[in-house]
Formats: sequence, structure tokens, C-alpha cells
Amino acid sequence: MAQFQKKIQRLGVFSSGGDAPGMNAAIRSIVRTAISHQIEVTAIIGGYPGMLEKNFQPLNLRSMANIIQRGGTVLKTGRSMEFHKPEYRKIAAENLKSAQIDAVVCIGGDGSFRGAHALWLEHQIPITGVPGTIDNDIFGTDNTIGFDTAVNTALQAIDKIRDTAASHDRLFIVEVMGRNSGLIASHVGLAGGAEIIFTPDVPITVDQAIDKIKAGQARGKMSSILITAEGQKPGRAYDLAEQIRKKAGLEAKVCILGHQQRGGSPTAFDRVLASRLGSVAVELLLQGQCDIMVGSQGEQIITVPLETAISKGKSTPRDYLSLANILAN
Ligand code: ADP
Repeated sequence: MAQFQKKIQRLGVFSSGGDAPGMNAAIRSIVRTAISHQIEVTAIIGGYPGMLEKNFQPLNLRSMANIIQRGGTVLKTGRSMEFHKPEYRKIAAENLKSAQIDAVVCIGGDGSFRGAHALWLEHQIPITGVPGTIDNDIFGTDNTIGFDTAVNTALQAIDKIRDTAASHDRLFIVEVMGRNSGLIASHVGLAGGAEIIFTPDVPITVDQAIDKIKAGQARGKMSSILITAEGQKPGRAYDLAEQIRKKAGLEAKVCILGHQQRGGSPTAFDRVLASRLGSVAVELLLQGQCDIMVGSQGEQIITVPLETAISKGKSTPRDYLSLANILAN
């Protein structure tokens, strides 16, 4: 955490990186909290590319009407390779200063927070971070905005797949999002009654999966659902299906859930989390605190220095995997 002295008259807000359901609830909370303190708010449209292109728009109370229930982000989001270079971050900082933006709230994932941390270190732009990513892979917070909605979206799809899997005695491999994180896969797997959950950080071999499926078949369990996290590259489920076919002669249907997990109306959990985190992100700046992420631990709202939040990821909870393994018997 860092401290600064400046009085804030205008606040900037932007969403960045992968979009997540609940970002709009966070934006609404940030804007309305700031306005309740007589602070003007400027939107930085489209993340860091918008900061570099001076894509700025004033916001008011009414700009936030009717968005709490909507997925995606009304401020758009984006990625910028240029922002990795200090010379471009200098341009971004100059753009913020020339628009008289005194402090900024960034809603995004760990990549976005790396950019935010650099803006503070290099140009003393006071900035707080609100964790918004479906992956829930940010260190220091129990939950990120969008994770709960994404898990529930995937779960609804898996429940439907289970109906058809059971009717046809089929083996399904369902691929969920999460990049290098096994958080979505482990939650969806446990909640969806999956036989096996493949995650990037816990080694489970195809042979182990085959043994589990065959043991189930021997007990009369004729349909199975395997969950895999996408890993580095979507399509991992096809590789697994091919290996299972070659090694055991078992045919597996593949279903890649893909981008539908990013969209949709946020759950109540995500709306409440977003509303609380967004408000505290503004209050911290008003108290002169920055270079910090707001997060949650249980029911508590906590703060974590951005440097700590970006220092490591989160590993898959192994107890979820072992419990899913026992319960799928
Ligand atoms: P997320 O915030 O969801 O993790 P990304 O990893 O794509 O998404 O990061 C979003 C953007 O943040 C990137 O396109 C880039 O502009 C900026 N960014 C990411 N990493 C860094 C970094 N190390 N330094 C500066 N900016 C970064």
C-alpha cells in the first residue's frame, strides 16, 4: 500500500482484460460512491488502449441506470501490448493528467493490476484495484467478481449434459474456462458430480481417469462426466478424448463450454461483492491510500497491496478434487 496527499476532484474508472459478469455492478458502485462525495467521474473507455487514445467520457448518476443486472462491461474492455512498455505508460499518465483525472479505479485481473502498479510506481497515478475476472486466480482475495456467475453458468450446462449422458450411457468430457487456473474446474466438478477433474496444477493421468471410469462401469455406472480446465489452449478436451479412445477404446463426447461462461446476468453473490468492493475502492482513495486491491475474505472486505496481489496466483483446492473423487463413486 502507498499513500498520497492530493485532494481528489475527478476520478477515472476503467475495466480491463477479460470481461466478467458483475463488472457493471462494480462500475455503478464506484461511480455512485464517488458522486455521493461530490467527485466527478470520467470513464476511460476500453481499458488501457482507451487510456492511450484519450478515449474519455464524463459519467453521471443516470449513466449507471439499469446496468446492475447486465453482464459484460458498459465501459468496454481491452488489451494493449503497448502498455507493457514504459514509454507508452508515460503517454497514458500524461493523458490522465491532462484530463485532470486525479485518481483511478481499475477493474480487472492480475495483468491489469500489473499495469496499474506500474502507473503508480512510475508516474504516481493514485490507483486502486477491484478484482474482476471469471478465473478467480488473484492472490489475496477469496473471490473475484464474475467467478460465481461463471461457475453457475457452467453448472447449468453440465446438468443438461448429464441428462443426455445418462439417457445414452455416454462418457462426456466438458471443458470449462480458467486459463491456467483450476478454480472453475474444481468448483464446477464438485458441484456437478464429475468423476474426474483435470486441472493445470494437479497431475491426474489419463490412465487414472480410465481406471476410474472402468471401475464405475464394473459397478453399473454407465455414464460419466469428466471436467477439464482449458489450460493454455482451448481444445484440451479433444486431446483427452483421443487419448482415452486410443488407450481404452472408450468413446467420449466432447463439449467445450467456451465464452458463454463469460456472459449473462451476474448472480446475487457477484452483484453484492461488486457493489461492496467498488465502494471501498473509492473510499480508500479518498483516505489517500492507493496501489492497493480490495478483496474479500469470508464476509470481510480486506485490502492487499497490488504488488502482493500480482506476486503469485492461486492453486486448485486439492480437497475439492479429493472430495469430488470420493463422492463420484
Ligand atoms: P487480466 O487483467 O484479465 O489478467 P490481461 O492479462 O490480458 O488481463 O491484462 C490486461 C492488460 O493489462 C494487458 O493487455 C496490458 O495492457 C496490461 N498489462 C498486463 N501485464 C502488464 C505488465 N506486466 N505491465 C504493464 N501492463 C500490463
